[in-house]
Amino acid sequence: METATARILDGKATAKQIRAEIQSETTDWIAAGGPVPTLAAVLVGDDPASQVYVQNKERACQQTGMQSRLVRLPSETSTDELLDLLAELNEDASVSGILVQLPLPAGVDTQQVLDAVNPEKDVDAFAPENVGLLVQGRPRFLPCTPHGVLQILWRHQVTLAGKHVVIVGRSEIVGKPLANMLVQRDAGLGVDFANATVTVCHSRSENLTAHLQQADVVVAAVGQPKMITGQMLKPGAVVIDVGINRVEQGLVGDVDFDSACQTASAITPVPGGVGPLTIAMLLRNTLTACQLQHRGQSS
Ligand code: NAP
Repeated sequence: METATARILDGKATAKQIRAEIQSETTDWIAAGGPVPTLAAVLVGDDPASQVYVQNKERACQQTGMQSRLVRLPSETSTDELLDLLAELNEDASVSGILVQLPLPAGVDTQQVLDAVNPEKDVDAFAPENVGLLVQGRPRFLPCTPHGVLQILWRHQVTLAGKHVVIVGRSEIVGKPLANMLVQRDAGLGVDFANATVTVCHSRSENLTAHLQQADVVVAAVGQPKMITGQMLKPGAVVIDVGINRVEQGLVGDVDFDSACQTASAITPVPGGVGPLTIAMLLRNTLTACQLQHRGQSS
């Protein structure tokens, strides 16, 4: 049997470190007279995975010294009822950030609901205004999963400037915003952790392997279990696996971990890679939102 050579980029440990930093900043903010940062989560219906995600986010808030408020609504909730609720949360000065857990039930106009979140409370960074600010290189909030990807690279000293990054997947949540961050001169972590040359692949890309073999860094955000194998990678590539796929054996990523470990120089595991970072970056945005809304209120 071949021996794995890739360095494992431990997202769990990185997220723990980031959460400790946020907890300490939150304590200082409150001690200086700032209000307690509060995240309102809106959960519609009874999708089991969404319930677990929301519970994890609530617990993470509490562990970091923030407050969480859960608004649970039945699956028959209409778009108009959700818009009314969002109008209330938008106006409520005690709510710093609003999170609408996706997916919403089939009858709801998801885009209209997401667009109704006050951009200053849009901790997922989905609002068109926040997307525009990100593209222009002056972000209000960094989108959580792409920011998690950058943090894991930054904290393991994997620089990006001048490197070729191939992102597989062009979703509004992961692929597209990450590409927008990586091409900036500085995405918030210094010039060495931006300034990449970026290729974005998707289901219509021809010859994915040819693109991957050019990549110094691969980010997989596809939603297809173990789709990317070690044979498809350039030797020494750094692999960030965003995918979370439930299969019979448990959770696996979009990358075939065992074969990729033979070719890559470093790789994130699933679970325990990017996943924990996403929640940590949501906490970061909740604190940022509170600070933006209450500028000058703490001493
Ligand atoms: P998504 O919206 O379903 O997008 C998937 C992307 O993959 C699309 O752009 C699609 O192309 C592309 N794609 C599909 N099949 C492909 C193929 N054979 N070759 C190349 N590209 C292909 O997914 P998402 O929301 O970005 O999520 C992707 C994965 O990341 C999922 O497993 C999800 O669970 C996971 N995820 C994890 C986190 C985390 O915290 N770790 C956060 C978000 C998502 P088209 O655009 O052409 O359809």
